[in-house]
Amino acid sequence: DRLVTASADGEDQAVEAALRPKLLEEFIGQERVREQLSLVLQAARKRGAAPDHVLLSGPPGLGKTTLSMIIAAELNAPIRITSGPAIQHAGDLAAILSSLTEGEVLFLDEIHRMSRPAEEMLYMAMEDFRVDVIVGKGPGATAIPLELPPFTLVGATTRAGLLPPPLRDRFGFTGHMEFYAPAELERVVHRSAGLLDVEIDPAGAAEIAGRSRGTPRIANRLLRRVRDFAQVRHDGLVTREIAARALEVYEVDARGLDRLDRAVLGALLKLFGGGPVGLSTLAVAVGEEAETVEEVAEPFLVREGLLARTPRGRIATAAAWQHLGLTPPPAARA
Ligand code: ATP
Repeated sequence: DRLVTASADGEDQAVEAALRPKLLEEFIGQERVREQLSLVLQAARKRGAAPDHVLLSGPPGLGKTTLSMIIAAELNAPIRITSGPAIQHAGDLAAILSSLTEGEVLFLDEIHRMSRPAEEMLYMAMEDFRVDVIVGKGPGATAIPLELPPFTLVGATTRAGLLPPPLRDRFGFTGHMEFYAPAELERVVHRSAGLLDVEIDPAGAAEIAGRSRGTPRIANRLLRRVRDFAQVRHDGLVTREIAARALEVYEVDARGLDRLDRAVLGALLKLFGGGPVGLSTLAVAVGEEAETVEEVAEPFLVREGLLARTPRGRIATAAAWQHLGLTPPPAARA
């Protein structure tokens, strides 16, 4: 239930469909992936054949699902959407694959979480457009080969490194998605504001973008909360001041840190003089589980260069002292 989480909640899912860019040229940022993908798609169109399978890797909320829909739209092909965790048995995958139509795009989110037997079936499907469906059990089991129409698999994963090499190798193209630059997020905010009928000035958009952790999904979510504030407390126009005051109410600070992030950083600085301190001690100090601190708060703090994980424990950087407006003790300053 964090406002700055990169994964989608129910409200996001309802609104995101309306906010998704539909074509490659409307898709903001990710210049390299966009150019590479555009070449892959144009070449496929020229040849009149399905393009190579595409793997999209990167953190949640950066637009992998959106890009897969764009791929289908650019190819004028239908799209089927499923995810690794939804495919527990090879039979689940066989059912999906055998019902694909020629040229269809199959989007498989969280592809690294598929079961092993399903994964092995996918190898063959990707390479030869064929699967062996096993009928029966034990010594009487037989494999019935099933031809598939050519299709394009778009796999998405938060960690390409987690994919077994045989699977990774079967993708003709891998797009690595990066966090968005503030200027790109400003464009995302402006675009979404237009679609949601929210009046916003450039400084207001910049303020939201700066607090969005490089992630369009978070930018869109913060925009909706700021819109509420602007409509309830003011005349609806989002300015820098309105955006900053609204996000103060929701405890998202100027750099995108929320209550938990600040609590972790605050404890590290105020109770432990900037560290080094062990993870479990730090977790007790903020009243959270060690896993929560490690998996929920720390990745962004490390990314922002506010906290470092060292063999001796967690330490705060000079930027952390500065961000919380505190003065480091003389030893930490050295
Ligand atoms: P997850 O892996 O959690 O499913 P994702 O990477 O698939 O996330 P999307 O669902 O595609 O992310 O995008 C999240 C939201 O961000 C969508 O509402 C989409 O409109 C918006 N968005 C993502 N990328 C862009 C972009 N480049 N330009 C404009 N909006 C974007």
